[in-house]
Amino acid sequence: MDYQTHEHDVLVIGAGGAGLRAAIEASAAGVSVGLVCKSLLGKAHTVMAEGGIAAALANVDDRDSWKVHFADTMRGGQYVNNWRMAELHAKEAPDRVRELEAWGAVFDRTKDGRILQRNFGGHRYPRLAHVGDRTGLELIRTLQDHGIHQGIDVHMECTIIYLLKDGDRIAGAFGYERERGRFKLFKAKAVVLATGGIGRAYKITSNSWEYTGDGHTLAYDAGAELVDMEFVQFHPTGMIWPPSVQGILVTEAVRGEGGVLKNNEGRRFMFDEIPDNYRAQTADNEEEGWRYTQGDKAARRPPELLTRDHVSRCIVREIKAGRGSPHGGVFLDISWIKARIPNGAEHIKKKLPSMYHQFKQLADIDITQEPMEVGPTTHYIMGGVRVDADTQMSTVPGLFAAGECAAGINGANRLGGNSLSDIIVFGKRAGEYAARYAKTQAGANVDTRQADEAARRALEPFERGTKGEGPYEVQYALQAMMQDLVGIVRNADEMRRALDGLTPLRERANRVGVSGHREYNPGWHAALDLHNLLTVSEAITRSALERRESRGGHFREDYPSKEVSFGTINFVVRKGRDGRMEVFSVAIPEMPEELKRVIKEME
Ligand SMILES: Cc1cc2nc3c(=O)[nH]c(=O)nc-3n(C[C@H](O)[C@H](O)[C@H](O)COP(=O)(O)OP(=O)(O)OC[C@H]3O[C@@H](n4cnc5c(N)ncnc54)[C@H](O)[C@@H]3O)c2cc1C
Repeated sequence: MDYQTHEHDVLVIGAGGAGLRAAIEASAAGVSVGLVCKSLLGKAHTVMAEGGIAAALANVDDRDSWKVHFADTMRGGQYVNNWRMAELHAKEAPDRVRELEAWGAVFDRTKDGRILQRNFGGHRYPRLAHVGDRTGLELIRTLQDHGIHQGIDVHMECTIIYLLKDGDRIAGAFGYERERGRFKLFKAKAVVLATGGIGRAYKITSNSWEYTGDGHTLAYDAGAELVDMEFVQFHPTGMIWPPSVQGILVTEAVRGEGGVLKNNEGRRFMFDEIPDNYRAQTADNEEEGWRYTQGDKAARRPPELLTRDHVSRCIVREIKAGRGSPHGGVFLDISWIKARIPNGAEHIKKKLPSMYHQFKQLADIDITQEPMEVGPTTHYIMGGVRVDADTQMSTVPGLFAAGECAAGINGANRLGGNSLSDIIVFGKRAGEYAARYAKTQAGANVDTRQADEAARRALEPFERGTKGEGPYEVQYALQAMMQDLVGIVRNADEMRRALDGLTPLRERANRVGVSGHREYNPGWHAALDLHNLLTVSEAITRSALERRESRGGHFREDYPSKEVSFGTINFVVRKGRDGRMEVFSVAIPEMPEELKRVIKEME
């Protein structure tokens, strides 16, 4: 078949923070760069990020440093993180944030004109550089403005469905234009995956339609390894009412600004259970917690700002014990700070403008006057493509990954704010090393039979037409199953049922049909997403079954404790020779003495 063909040295798939930053860096290295994205440029998921970017700038608290940030990230990830990535991230994030400022990002300011930083869960000091609660929008705007002048070729509204290979190495990618339905072939010496997460595998999620695990699956199908797939983050505070907005995120910044969680008895239940490894850093009374949120350096953080995995489980405990809110969540109250702050309502609107509008418009609730009802929502995946910490190259030569679709830095649980810094630190690295790699390579040979086969499979749903099942029915069934059986609280019986359930769902996915033609046909797009959703769901379930303990985002009621033996391994997923999914454990390399000392010092 003939395809519209494009050729680049480096092809970046994804135009969120990671993809844009990678494209800017690769282009600055003097290679030709193509940037492909499913939605319009500027609409990537990063735009939704609210609370801020974590970087130890030490502008608000001069006790902060890369060492504290590194230790916080490792503690949050419960020590199964890729420590080298955590180290690079903590050391390089401040420069990446200052670079954004130099490129025109307008951050909120301290009184003496420096970048303002706010408190967030699991961070010892105020560390999140922010722009109100619209930080992601500013990040994307800045990177786009900067990138637009670099000669990057942008291919918008184009979905990649297959990675092309020349022997073992990467040779390009194949996809289709969402608007016209025409296929496109991209030849490239190096490919950077920056496709984001998997949240649409679950029924309740803060993630947009784009998060269907595409990059994870493209890499897996191309022979790359995935790691840490059992670690899914359920953010404690999503909207729960009305049903049409269920799952939409309520930023942690609400708690960073003094918001408190209460049950239907009016009690701040987060004081009931404080994990041992955080006890020394956590306030034991409400007054101290409040002083912390207002910048008192002598105070310890309130328990509402413990890590997300813990806060989510405490909320589930309250709901299960019958102490939940009327619509099945708990209460999050920021309005109470009016008693402490002059012009409190205006202060809340200024600090949390998006939250104010979100609740006013979607739920008819004025958050300056009354509490919100919130509950956990699928938010982020710590797992993803297994990459080299320094270069971001996967186990497939020429295939790189960065941002949410890559893994390692977060271990078992991500701290809020660490994703926006991850995407700019490792986006830059991926772009830099992909360009270096491309410069050493002759053009790869593209075997168009690989593209023909991908095109043939992609068009099968049209052949079945209305005789096939609708793709959305399969999608809903999968989402409901993952929510019920591989959610916040897991056990072996339920996960085995999920694994058994995936086989008939895959058969149904292979029989879905779509009617109409290829021009903007959302049913067809949903049909093509199913393979990705099923692949990541299987990877999550198989890895979660193997990890017979509870750690971070992965909680098993049949193994509720953390086990020392699981603290030294990661689980890796790979496609076996017979096409079946294999899961195996790999030992985490020994941490250098210098980093061990840093963790000890920060205890
Ligand atoms: C509501 C919300 C608020 C958040 N707030 C914060 C915060 O305050 N701080 C923080 O650190 N983190 C936050 N996060 C997490 C953070 O926003 C994301 O983890 C991060 O933005 C991911 O960036 P990325 O560059 O990896 O991917 P994305 O920004 O999601 O970009 C993915 C790109 O890949 C493209 N793509 C996907 N599949 C394909 C395909 N098959 N073909 C072509 N293109 C494809 C998409 O079109 C998109 O351009 C938040 C997340 C949510 C949902």
